[in-house]
Amino acid sequence: MTGPVLRPGLCKRCLRCLLDCPAGAFGRDGDLPVPVPGLCTRCGLCVSRCPKGALELPGGPAGSPFTTPGDPS
Ligand code: SF4
Ligand code: SF4
Repeated sequence: MTGPVLRPGLCKRCLRCLLDCPAGAFGRDGDLPVPVPGLCTRCGLCVSRCPKGALELPGGPAGSPFTTPGDPS
């Protein structure tokens, strides 16, 4: 599924998203988290846990009323 989009300029590199992701859908480049789209289940947890608003899940989490029909997830 399509994973979250990271804005590196906002990220404070706390790696909370990587540590809390239940799907293990983050790799890392040094201290920067790198989303791995194929593993993401679109639960939305990383977006809600990020203290800097550096992650966005296009179309919203799975099951969200904001998910648009035909979303490529
Ligand atoms: S939780 Fe947010 S600020 Fe922390 S590493 Fe992840 S994207 Fe960056
Ligand atoms: S939306 Fe859920 S599964 Fe996907 S990267 Fe974030 S925490 Fe992991």
